[in-house]
Amino acid sequence: MDISREEIAEFLDRKIFRLISEVADRMQLDCYLIGGSVRDFFLYRPSKDIDIVAVGKGIELAKAVASALGPRTKLTVFKNFGTAQLKYKDFEIEFVGARKESYTHDSRNPIVEDGTLEDDQKRRDFTINAMAFCLNGDRFGELLDPFNGLQDLQDLIIRTPLDPDITFSDDPLRMMRAVRFASQLGFDIYPETFDAIARNSERIKIISKERITDELNKIILSPKPSVGFILLEKTGLLEIIFPELLALKGAETKEGVGHKDNFYHTLAVLDNISLKTDNLWLRWSALLHDIAKPVTKRWDNKLGWTFHNHNYVGEKMVPKIFGRMKLPLNEKMKYTQKMVSMHMRPMQLVEEEVTDSAIRRLLFDAGDDIDDLMTLCEADITSKNAEKVRRHLQNFKIVRRKLMEIEEKDRVRNFQPPVDGNEIMEIFGLGPGREVGLLKSAIKEAILDGEIPNERQAAYDYLIRKANELGLTPMEK
Ligand code: ATP
Repeated sequence: MDISREEIAEFLDRKIFRLISEVADRMQLDCYLIGGSVRDFFLYRPSKDIDIVAVGKGIELAKAVASALGPRTKLTVFKNFGTAQLKYKDFEIEFVGARKESYTHDSRNPIVEDGTLEDDQKRRDFTINAMAFCLNGDRFGELLDPFNGLQDLQDLIIRTPLDPDITFSDDPLRMMRAVRFASQLGFDIYPETFDAIARNSERIKIISKERITDELNKIILSPKPSVGFILLEKTGLLEIIFPELLALKGAETKEGVGHKDNFYHTLAVLDNISLKTDNLWLRWSALLHDIAKPVTKRWDNKLGWTFHNHNYVGEKMVPKIFGRMKLPLNEKMKYTQKMVSMHMRPMQLVEEEVTDSAIRRLLFDAGDDIDDLMTLCEADITSKNAEKVRRHLQNFKIVRRKLMEIEEKDRVRNFQPPVDGNEIMEIFGLGPGREVGLLKSAIKEAILDGEIPNERQAAYDYLIRKANELGLTPMEK
């Protein structure tokens, strides 16, 4: 690592670290900055979570620091966990006493005792997460790195400080964390560490769905999520936590006709979209867009492999997957369903002559999500044939331009009927019923087909004509 003493001094030369140092010296407590923020400092990654370990009384130190910061400092003490948290400017600072942990087989809740700094470093998940800077007096800025985390940072390696079988069996969430860090940081998992994950993958079952999903979301939000998903697959974790995704793997051949491997295709789509958006739900949509291909796959003697309606079947699978994974069952899920269900629509336009009417219908159905849908469709082009990719992207440009032109002219993206149901009832003296619905939808269809413009007068005239056909006349005023 090329980081100099000066850079370390500059990083630690903040009012908050100086203050913690003074207070700890006064209390004669050994005190260290540890974990993620030390790692992120060496990686030049900004970090807002600061973890402080004191050998002895973590909570006492937190209280003393909070009172030195002034009466308005908000301190939250979690007595059961032996931790305390305070907010200072943008930082969340967590204080804890150095601890030693031992585990029983059935639980990830350890038996905790007071320990030394070394004990505390040993209970950390990875060597790169176990480094600490001393904050006391003369030793201020001294790096304590008993497991060569700095070297692993340099070599881009995720490795457990102790025997990986014990580390992962003690707390199986660490297996998800290993994959997550590899995906976030673009690191490799050290072979022995990797093998231990593969051996212990079944243990992930004792971890709550929420915690697994938190890590999965971080993998999805990483710069190149395929790194994480391929590791999940290779370690056997994917089979347990996300069997529907694993089912996409493989390419069957019949009578010399194959289909693409939809697992790797899906990961390519997810990587593509991750270059364009940090929207977690759009990334989830990419991950799930072909999720129903395995269950809809058929062999047809004329057509070869087909996946009829995989978009609609996929739309129906989304709530089941979200429910099991404890993802939100709200408008985020509905958005994901809509994306999965519509993911082929823009592509169908590209393949035909693009009519204004087809564009209007797409705008109407997609509403405000049209840009996201186009982003998904563009990401879905993963052909190895560069010429084909170029042609599709070029056609998408045409569709995008048409979408803008039509929206500018007809404003159907958030369609509101220019004559609504209440007015129709008033004009013809009708009660609620089938005829009102028929007339309303006739107006909508005429606008979407481009028969009439999306304007009040044109819609009114059209309504009168249509109503006439049904034998209706306007009431006398
Ligand atoms: P991020 O902020 O990106 O989630 P982080 O490493 O800072 O990464 P935290 O979950 O805040 O993640 O954890 C802070 C530190 O606590 C870690 O760097 C690690 O030293 C330790 N730690 C967290 N979770 C575990 C765990 N399950 N097992 C062992 N040590 C852990």
